[in-house]
Amino acid sequence: MNSTPPPSTQFCALCGTKVEHRIPLEDSRVRAVCPACGHIHYDNPKMVVGTLPVYQGKILLCQRAIEPGAGKWTLPAGFMECGESMMQGAWRETFEEACAQVRLIEPVYHMVDIPHIAQTHLFFRAELDTPEFGAGDETLQARLFAPDEIPWEDLVFRSSHSALRSWIADLERGVFPTRHVTLKPLVD
Ligand SMILES: [Zn+2]
Repeated sequence: MNSTPPPSTQFCALCGTKVEHRIPLEDSRVRAVCPACGHIHYDNPKMVVGTLPVYQGKILLCQRAIEPGAGKWTLPAGFMECGESMMQGAWRETFEEACAQVRLIEPVYHMVDIPHIAQTHLFFRAELDTPEFGAGDETLQARLFAPDEIPWEDLVFRSSHSALRSWIADLERGVFPTRHVTLKPLVD
């Protein structure tokens, strides 16, 4: 597979020496190997978790205050932290970015593999019991959008876009099967 991203590690986590990117003995992949102390760094994919928060048929989106995508709209989502489950991570990100305390709906609704950047994004459907939300530190404003008000042209992040498209399509049928997409690099 020529789409495997190279290791992102540049310096040894243990001794600070610049690493070499090569295939270690008895391995089959290029790793970041320290020429000084021999430590092998394993760069593994990162998991992003988020929600599609709904209140009375409207979806809660966040307008980003920071790059990437400052000023654009997206679903609340972010990197999972060590020590939490994916549902805890999705709940936390929704609380941090949209100040909303949601009820998550199992199972995970929308799964997005993005192998060329070594990430997998998981979105849960979620419900707000009350219209209580606000702007977290990384958010300019959070706002409810009716399905026909979603600012498609002003969305950032292809995974959010993909999850919202699935949600809109499933909304018409009233059933929400778990969906899976794989995103490939955009070709200029
Ligand atoms: Zn080292």
